Amino acid sequence: MKLYAERTFRIDTENAFKVGPHIDRVEEEIGAVVKLNLGEPDFPVPTHIKDEIKRQLDLDNTHYCDPKGLITLRRAIAKQVGETRGLKVSAERVVVFPGGKPSIGLVQQVYCSPGNEVIYPSPGFPIYESMIEFVGGVPVPMQLHESSAFNVDIDEIEARITDRTKLMIVNSPNNPCGSVIPKEDLQRLANLAKEHDIAVLSDEIYNRFLYEGEHHSIAAFPGMRDRTIILDGLSKSYAMTGWRIGYGVMPQELVEPISRLATNSVSCTASFTQIAALEALSGPQERSYSMVEEFKKRRDIIVAGLNDIPGIRCPLPLGAFYVFPSIEETEITSQVFAESLLSEAGVASLAGESFGRFGNGYIRFSFANSVGNLEIALERIRNFVRSR
Ligand code: PLP
Repeated sequence: MKLYAERTFRIDTENAFKVGPHIDRVEEEIGAVVKLNLGEPDFPVPTHIKDEIKRQLDLDNTHYCDPKGLITLRRAIAKQVGETRGLKVSAERVVVFPGGKPSIGLVQQVYCSPGNEVIYPSPGFPIYESMIEFVGGVPVPMQLHESSAFNVDIDEIEARITDRTKLMIVNSPNNPCGSVIPKEDLQRLANLAKEHDIAVLSDEIYNRFLYEGEHHSIAAFPGMRDRTIILDGLSKSYAMTGWRIGYGVMPQELVEPISRLATNSVSCTASFTQIAALEALSGPQERSYSMVEEFKKRRDIIVAGLNDIPGIRCPLPLGAFYVFPSIEETEITSQVFAESLLSEAGVASLAGESFGRFGNGYIRFSFANSVGNLEIALERIRNFVRSR
């Protein structure tokens, strides 16, 4: 153990990936499991995107490329981000990565000297806290309260800001709660960031999965573009999770150091995937938007179904594709609930604590699954709760 740096064992993980082997075991024992644990659209990647990647392989476009990403793709990203956020974005501010996730760790490395504080949502995507800890930063969780539709409390955030606060992470729509930060709150967060000279990592990976209203980026508020890094990618919007393609849009001065950090670890993102991503962004968008329409129907089915089960209280998520119901009244802990629901009833979910300690008493179900499977899951959850 002494051989290793102390931080080696400070790194945490995503439980969504850890349940895989348990699911396999349960399937051998009791049969098919309904998998509501992973956050990935169940739709196939549209044919024109698959055709493009095949074509690129046949053309032998399989070599190293610019570590910042292909300029054609960076331009298309700048255009889409600019249009969807009402923001002027140039391709020079875009860096392409293998997924949305790399931005999280790279940004912590850039902003976080040991002892610096980072404010982040909790319940929240577990990689935020994991990477803050790993780089020696101080995690400052901001509780999302169910009583305020799982939104941030701006006064609470203000009270937690110190002269060591360097970065604030916002995630709207949020994983796991499905909450969306109202525009007025984003404005107040932007004011706080400017007043206290804090950078913002705005995780907008679910920006297209919005069931009411329109998406607002904190980067679009006056004076925010040069202190915000937008994280986004194609994993969710185009169902391209395993393709590993995402990007960061950042202040100009960060592009060089952040892309060097990426060069030091991955050299570049696969060139043929980037060209297929260009096809995704510039080709027809109907499939992507119809997927969101379908998810809205599923959301309504799962929320109504869960609220109909005594002991479960399920708020309506406004975005993303997760529900985060309270199971407190069942008097079963989240951990036991998730484990037993899988092993006894064949439904895979995640305990709320997988998203930080404020997730205690909650369960996350992904509704990126067919209506048929959601109905089977609801029936199994109902019987499971009744049997307790
Ligand atoms: N940010 C959030 C909030 C997520 O939920 C995820 C994936 O689940 C990511 C980032 C990472 O996305 P990617 O798979 O593109 O790395």
